[in-house]
Amino acid sequence: MTEQTKTSAQKRYDELKHLMASYSYEYYVLDEPSVSDAVYDGLMQEVKRIEADYPDLVTPDSPTQRVGGKALDKFSKVRHSVRMVSLNDVFNREDVEAWVKRTDKLAPGRGTEFFTDIKMDGLACALVYQDGVLVQAITRGDGTIGEDVTLNVRTIKSVPLTLRTAKGYERFLTGRTEIRGEIIMLKDDFEALNKQREADGKPVFMNPRNLAAGTIRQLDPQLVARPLNFRAYDLLREDPSEVATNMECYKAIRALGVAANPQASVFTDIDGVMRFVDEWEDKRHDLPFNTDGLVVKLNDRELYRELGTVGKNPRGAVAYKYPAEEATTVLKDIVISIGRTGAATPVAVFDPVVVAGTLVQHASLHNADEIARKDVRIGDTVVIYKAGDIIPQVERVIAELRPAEAVQFDYEAELARQYPELEFERPAGEVVYRVKGATGTILLRQALEHFASKGALDIDTLGEKNVVALVDSGLVGDLADIYSLTKEQVLELDRFGEVSASKLVSAIADKKQPSLPRFVFGLGIRHVGTQTAVDLAEKFGSVEALATATIDDLLAVNGIGTVVAESVVAWFADSDNRALLDKFTALGVEPSYESHAGGKLDGKSFVITGGLETMKRDQAADRIRELGGTFQSSVGKDTDYLVVGSNVGESKLAKARKLGTTMISEEQLVEMIAE
Ligand code: NAD
Repeated sequence: MTEQTKTSAQKRYDELKHLMASYSYEYYVLDEPSVSDAVYDGLMQEVKRIEADYPDLVTPDSPTQRVGGKALDKFSKVRHSVRMVSLNDVFNREDVEAWVKRTDKLAPGRGTEFFTDIKMDGLACALVYQDGVLVQAITRGDGTIGEDVTLNVRTIKSVPLTLRTAKGYERFLTGRTEIRGEIIMLKDDFEALNKQREADGKPVFMNPRNLAAGTIRQLDPQLVARPLNFRAYDLLREDPSEVATNMECYKAIRALGVAANPQASVFTDIDGVMRFVDEWEDKRHDLPFNTDGLVVKLNDRELYRELGTVGKNPRGAVAYKYPAEEATTVLKDIVISIGRTGAATPVAVFDPVVVAGTLVQHASLHNADEIARKDVRIGDTVVIYKAGDIIPQVERVIAELRPAEAVQFDYEAELARQYPELEFERPAGEVVYRVKGATGTILLRQALEHFASKGALDIDTLGEKNVVALVDSGLVGDLADIYSLTKEQVLELDRFGEVSASKLVSAIADKKQPSLPRFVFGLGIRHVGTQTAVDLAEKFGSVEALATATIDDLLAVNGIGTVVAESVVAWFADSDNRALLDKFTALGVEPSYESHAGGKLDGKSFVITGGLETMKRDQAADRIRELGGTFQSSVGKDTDYLVVGSNVGESKLAKARKLGTTMISEEQLVEMIAE
């Protein structure tokens, strides 16, 4: 989320808390979630960001403070001996490093071993054994108070009613031994059950987790006969020092006859943890049960206890989440890009968010109907979807989080605002608006002429007539095609002879390493003139960096306002344009940039008025830029020098006088830009 005032943060925070409480209720109490875990986790990230920015907003009913469940009245309630926790999510190596750094700061040099396990997506349950005999099974509930589900849990075959006697582990058969773990349903069992329900004409269950949770919280023992499994991850004794490490804990659990994941491992550094993360990224899909990422804990259990909890999360453990295919973010803008055929495509621009492992900041909204159908509005919280290589999509809007001021998107009004100089039409029966009178050929001719022009790539002999010949003959289908033209191909056109064809092909080849500002200008991005192209090049340094710039990054460039920023983002969001850039690269076109910052005119801006005697205006502008200066088209508050040439009308000078701009002569300019 971008900068926001405390009041608006508070408002957003309250709305998120409220909505998440209802999602939590559906998930934990009704066992019937209405949104995916990724959506819930996405909103949770936002809550955490607000809490980090404004710690005094945190209330006890925040989803970061409360374990989501609640004990149902139909079961008797039981207080847990030790609170059952939730885990803080981490998403990448940097997050893991930050967690390790935090623990190390609190206990320098002590957390040297990391215990990792698969995180099962099931229902947490505590089994209480008294002198080795199962006496109680309690759901996690809200972490402090759970439900007594002993009768139901006793029907799970993998829950032993009596613990096994094993050499070296006899002590656990005396007194109270609590084994905590996850009740899960295997994927195969889930599918078989759903198939049967389908055949019986009954509604199918959403996922194994909800089915397992729903089953265990049934009063009807018949239903509990559904196949469930239990896998443990913790063992508690009155004297915690009986189990020093988590690895020992798993050994004890297995010795006592309870299953614990064989995948659990111990590593002595972050590299090891990340190897485990990488190993299970794909392999987890082959496990017989659904997973919810990984768990990483400090292996030393005493240290884990000492570090305690923050809110509902222990400091000594985290949950590693793999990239989700969905994420939530806030829609900041809808910009419209005009494609190479003249079709207008709306693009959603949002706060950058990681989806399926990549950072995305825009998605196509396809057309006006799609915007209307999804009722996407600027300011909306949206769910972004991206599976594998698929281009990100705005899946839907979370209407509950819509700000009061968000108005319905008026497509035609936006076209008029963003493209005042163009006229659009929507051919009957089509969903797409197009630039009136424009065809792909006309637009390509214009684009190529601009690309080859003096201020852009300055390609000799590629003027209007040659452009028309190349485009109309079909030899050139996009800007990049000129770089693959051969002399033989060009010779086939009437206009060309041996010499002129060679000349054209070599003039094009000469411009394979254009300067970045000329190349950016040449792309013909609306509102990006020569100076803006220089400013963009100076700020971003490469086409790749410019292509991923956010609206905020662009607004941070001096002299760039919303209109330019929107236009740049829309251009790079267009998949045709991205394909064009890839084609340039494939053909060996490499724009290069040498920063002129630090040159002798660095930070100084110039305007030239009137005619110059010793050089052309363009040459002067180029030289000023080479020396790090800025060349402007009209005098403004930030203009340092007005170069006064010949035949200048008094009115032009009046503004400069008013603003106190220093006026210099051509001779003075020549002196300033001399070698
Ligand atoms: P959590 O993610 O904080 O993790 C803690 C739990 O992990 C433990 O209680 C334990 O039961 C479980 N676990 C599984 N394998 C484990 C292992 N090997 N070692 C240790 N613990 C293990 O759990 P939570 O508080 O239930 O977290 C929230 C989860 O529920 C998130 O994934 C969230 O997306 C989901 N959720 C979804 C919705 C929704 O509407 N879709 C609503 C609320 C919560």
